[in-house]
This record gives sequence, structure tokens and C-alpha cells, in this order.
Amino acid sequence: MKCIVVHYSEIGLKGKNRDFFERKLVSNIKATLKDFAPIVKRLSGRLMIDYDPDDEKKIRERLVSVPGIASFSFAEQADRDVDDIKKAIDELSGGKVKSFAIKTTRGDKNFKYDSQELNVMLGDYVNEKYGWKVDLTKPDRTFFVEITSGDAFVYTEKIRGMGGLPVGSSGRLVSLLSGGIDSPVAAFEMFKRGCPVTFVHFHNWSAQKDIVRDKVERIVTVLSRYQPESRLYLVPFEELQKSLVASVPSKYRMIVYRRIMFRIARMIAEKEKALGFVTGDSVGQVASQTLENLGVIYDAAKLPVLTPMAGANKDDIIAKAKSIGTYDISTLPYSDCCSFLVDKHPETKARLEDIQKVEVGIKDMGKLVKIAVKRSEVKKY
Ligand code: ATP
Ligand code: MG
Repeated sequence: MKCIVVHYSEIGLKGKNRDFFERKLVSNIKATLKDFAPIVKRLSGRLMIDYDPDDEKKIRERLVSVPGIASFSFAEQADRDVDDIKKAIDELSGGKVKSFAIKTTRGDKNFKYDSQELNVMLGDYVNEKYGWKVDLTKPDRTFFVEITSGDAFVYTEKIRGMGGLPVGSSGRLVSLLSGGIDSPVAAFEMFKRGCPVTFVHFHNWSAQKDIVRDKVERIVTVLSRYQPESRLYLVPFEELQKSLVASVPSKYRMIVYRRIMFRIARMIAEKEKALGFVTGDSVGQVASQTLENLGVIYDAAKLPVLTPMAGANKDDIIAKAKSIGTYDISTLPYSDCCSFLVDKHPETKARLEDIQKVEVGIKDMGKLVKIAVKRSEVKKY
């Protein structure tokens, strides 16, 4: 019988929490495969999924995007019986092959043959029946044989998964998502650490409304592959920007602007029961990202601000953005809602006292922050 065997990643190491992690992974797999109505079973140390071979390609595409899966294989399930395992091998013997290897792992040490004995027995069988040569270094086909306490599985390919932890096994984060390259990659990194992510984008619709909106929504659509459910808050920022520009010296505007973003994001975090933020900041990349300025900006966040790109070089971030599928969208031309705030000589060593002083002068800041949250549009993916 055909099935998918899923090996999970760090979950196996989690001792008492293992049950909790496994349940999360199972429910995430069910969510991503919901249109195939999969039956997912928990076996010792692995999962087994029933599937229709016609759906193999689509299922493969989805499972590679599920955090927590180390690898998975389209397998033949057999009884714990050598003749039955041979039949499973026969099922996987099609195509042009000249050399082969058998690699047995025995999850259940009580099985009557050990891995080496099985390799030899099954190897002899294949060699005699098909005339293929054993080649342990570069075989045309490898038969992986897994003996568990209840079943045996045979497969010929281990497909690498994302690894990490299943989404939902760690606390929720609010992602400050610009239309740029870095912030989508930063959010992606946190999926792998088990964090569900709520997206927040600040916009000034007066500048190229449809283009910006379309871009951000497309980025979220790509990122929503990696978690069962995504929400995007589109926050109107125009009024606050006007008020800010009227009183804040231009060299400080970017810093104040980002502090206000965090004030709004805090209110959204509360609604979403999020425990922190994730941004695309990379130390020294632009003026607002000196350590001095980041310290002043994050002071407004109150919750932890995670910055997985902090130590990454731009080239590496770009390569990652390409591999997760956000790069081509992020590089579409658009005018950033805050580009007009960029000063020719921005402050690079801001001091909190100075910034707090200018913030006092922003007319109706508290009120405008609340209004911005209220007027946010929330979209589900
Ligand atoms: P990115 O490529 O992520 O846009 P960047 O290098 O362009 O980053 P900045 O524009 O200074 O850097 O923004 C730094 C971080 O601030 C972003 O990574 C993002 O987390 C947040 N941010 C900036 N603009 C917005 C916005 N309009 N809405 C939400 N978050 C934003
Ligand atoms: Mg940006």
C-alpha cells in the first residue's frame, strides 16, 4: 500500500513536550493538505499519511513548505515480514536501473534480523531477480527500508523538508512588513522557529494605492504557504505622517516614524495575543539601522523585537528571498510610504531624550494612533 512517511525535525528531542509538538505538526499538515482529505497517523517517531498517487506532485510542493518536517518520502507500506518487504521493493523497481543499494534502518530493535542482515538478504534478492549490481557509493537506485514497531516502509527518495519546529509551537509574532526584500525573509525565518506570524503593513494610499497594496498582498500570499492561517493588517498612516512632518525635524523623522509604527503595532499585538515583533532590520544597512538608532526605535516596542536578519549580509538576504519566492515581488518598483521622510543627512546616533522631546510636539499623536488601529483593514489568507 502506498503512503507518505514523514520524519520530523527537532520535535523528536523535546521530551515531555513531544506530544504537543506532534499534534501541532499533524494539524498543520492536515491544514495544508485539506483539499486531499488526508488521514495522518502518528507512529513511533514518524507520521504516516494516506494519499492518492495522482496527487503526488501537489502534495510534495506543499509538504516542503511545512516547518517541522525534516524529510518525507512516498513509500510502500509492508508488514514486518521479509517476503512482504520484497514485494514492496518490487513495486518500486520500475525504470532503467543498473546499480542499487539497500539501506535499512531498524527503529524496532526486536525485529528478528538486524539492519546488516536485512541489507544482505534484500540485496541478494534484488541482484538475482533484476540482475542489478550492488553499488554503495553511487547507485542508480537506493531502497530505503525502515522497520518500525508496527510496520515496514520502503522508499527510494528522501525529500528534504524545512526542518525546525511546527508553526504554533512557539508564541505569536507581529511582523512589520514593508514592501522591501528583508522583512519577508525575516518573517519566514521565524516560521521555522514555530512562531505563527500576523502581518502589519503601514501605508500611505495617496501614493500609488493599488500598486503598493497589490505588492504587499502578494508577498503575504507567498508567506501564507508556511503557516495554516495568515492575517494582514493594512494600517493607514497618512494622517500621522502629516502631523509628524509638521513638527519633527527632518533628520529625526525616520526614527520617530518607526517608533510610531511600534506604538500602533503594540495595540495590534495585544489584539492578536502576540508576544513580540519581527522586523527586517540588518545592522548598518541604512541610517535608521545603526545600533544607536535601533535602540531608540525598539524602546517604543515594549515587547521583544526579533531581527533574524540583524547579522545577515544583503547578498545572503537576497538569495534567501529568491529561494522562498518573495524576491521578484519585493523588487517590483513602488514608492515606499515613507520615502519622502528620508533626510539627506539623517541622524545616525539618536539619543532617546532628544527623540522623546520632539515627540511631545506631535499634534494628537495618541488619538491618531488609536484611529489608525481602528481604521486598519484586516485581510485573511
Ligand atoms: P525592507 O527590505 O524590509 O523594507 P529596508 O532595508 O528597506 O527593509 P527600512 O525601510 O529602514 O529597511 O525598514 C526597516 C524595517 O522596518 C523593515 O524591515 C520592516 O520590518 C519595517 N518597516 C519599514 N517600513 C514599513 C512599512 N511601511 N510597514 C511595515 N513595516 C515597515
Ligand atoms: Mg523598506
